[in-house]
Amino acid sequence: MSLLKVENLSVRIAGVTPVDCVSFSIGAGEAFALLGESGCGKSMTALALMRLLPPGGRIAEGQVSFEGEVLGTLPESHMRTLRGRGMAMIFQEPQTSLNPVMTIGDQIAEALPTGMTRNEQKAEVLKLLEEVGIPHPETRIHSYPFELSGGQKQRIMIAQALAGRPKLLIADEPTTALDVTLQAQILQLIKRLAKERGMALMLITHDLGVARKMANRVGIMYAGQLVETLPVDDETGLARAFHPYTRKLMAAVPSLERAGQRLAAIPGRVPSLNQPFTGCRFADRCAHAFSPCAATLPEWNNLGDGHAVRCHLAVQADTKPENETLQPLKAAVPGTVCVLAVRNLQVTFAQRTGQLFGKQNIQAVDGISFELAAGETLALVGESGCGKTTAAKAILGLTEISGGEVELDGRTVSHFSEHQFKPFRRLAQIVFQDPYSSLNPRMRVGDILLEGMTALGVGKASGRTKAIAALLEKVGLDPDATGKYPHEFSGGQRQRIAIARALAVQPKLLICDEPTSALDVSVQAQILNLLADLQREEGLAMLFITHNLAAVGYLANRVAVMRAGKIVETGTTRDILIRPQHPYTKGLLESVV
Ligand code: SF4
Repeated sequence: MSLLKVENLSVRIAGVTPVDCVSFSIGAGEAFALLGESGCGKSMTALALMRLLPPGGRIAEGQVSFEGEVLGTLPESHMRTLRGRGMAMIFQEPQTSLNPVMTIGDQIAEALPTGMTRNEQKAEVLKLLEEVGIPHPETRIHSYPFELSGGQKQRIMIAQALAGRPKLLIADEPTTALDVTLQAQILQLIKRLAKERGMALMLITHDLGVARKMANRVGIMYAGQLVETLPVDDETGLARAFHPYTRKLMAAVPSLERAGQRLAAIPGRVPSLNQPFTGCRFADRCAHAFSPCAATLPEWNNLGDGHAVRCHLAVQADTKPENETLQPLKAAVPGTVCVLAVRNLQVTFAQRTGQLFGKQNIQAVDGISFELAAGETLALVGESGCGKTTAAKAILGLTEISGGEVELDGRTVSHFSEHQFKPFRRLAQIVFQDPYSSLNPRMRVGDILLEGMTALGVGKASGRTKAIAALLEKVGLDPDATGKYPHEFSGGQRQRIAIARALAVQPKLLICDEPTSALDVSVQAQILNLLADLQREEGLAMLFITHNLAAVGYLANRVAVMRAGKIVETGTTRDILIRPQHPYTKGLLESVV
């Protein structure tokens, strides 16, 4: 008997059906991953299982059973017991999921079964803290969430979820906010605990690598529906996938092997769920669509060995979509002209010590040096807090430097006054991580692009409208985007606007600070393709700041690895990713899932 059985589940909220006719089951001790891009209905499915839908949301059709008991009819008091002892959930964002005014010990104790004495509760909390790898549990039990790092908070969330000894752990993007090393540690911890406790796992993720590493079986969701389920393992991954959407996702993942090729991009956008559907929801974007696709909803087809797919192609014997052929990019030819030279750069911050008027200096960037030529991409990699972004801000004159120098286009600019630096400001531009907060929501796109050109005197005023239209075309946006506001665009389109804004002032150096970390895999592919084109066709020098080593392998010519403010290793991308020398680099690479 399945531990969890979901049959034809549909969720309705504010006139929209974010989950439509979803069915799957999870056996005891099994690890199942629900995989898909933002807004496809993964988290809403999990919330429906826990009966924790947001206000106005309801299960419109279908049913969920746990150990044979149908959950829809259970009284709320019974459901409260089931949440914790039957199913427990780890949420994506530990920062907002923990109570900031309660100690972590009290928060974990709240989730323990009732009837324990205070001493028994304390002993159990200490045991759980130790189990999830929190150092010094005796001291930490009295800490508040703000005293913990992001990784430690996620461990507390796991301890809280385990407190009721659940049979099924639902983990909703448990590592999205963490860097590569912490991600590997948390995933290993979840996998180990699930194995030790014989606990089933339902993992919600948009990361194909995480699904492959953690799950025995994967369900792929698209626009509110499950479109494919198949067994998966670390060796073969999703190689057997049939559905054209799954196969496109696989071909959109960047890697060292795909450097020099255009990643697969899925044309168009996910359809709005605020409309009735008749046929396959992927039909408008599918290269294999044929006559029945737009008119008839495909049935489930069993392909054997636990593999099932919802696609009309599967009905036809021996028909399987061909492997995606990736098109070659124009050859990259890094120039010899040095655009950026950083020599012994240092940035020091003063930090309070906790004693009255006490301060100490923190060396955020500790004597880093590198050069970057036109048409070349250098990746600056390392864990959160290693000084990558501070170094970028220092290069751009946005943070005061305490030592060393920065040379832009042959001139040492690091000690220039604001007035002296102004003519050089257009030479180096930055694209930030979050396309949602980096554009002024009150300005139309045309004005956003015009602002920098006017302020820095780029081009003649009469030619700027034409230049903006050309820029929008270059980054793959329609010319009518000029009259729209940022909120009218998707995340990927906003990142294109941010890139167009940077290009509007004709820079020689583009600093990209985690430009794809907030994006889904298919949108990430579009942005990486665009950056690869810009490097090749515009001869832009790019400083690519990231902890995504797959994107580094795809895009960068050279890599500099940063740790605690210092560069510990540099080399060609191939050398660093295949033959790392420094133990820290080796550790980073081993953490990649
Ligand atoms: Fe493509 Fe048709 Fe299959 Fe949908 S049903 S994925 S449109 S081939």
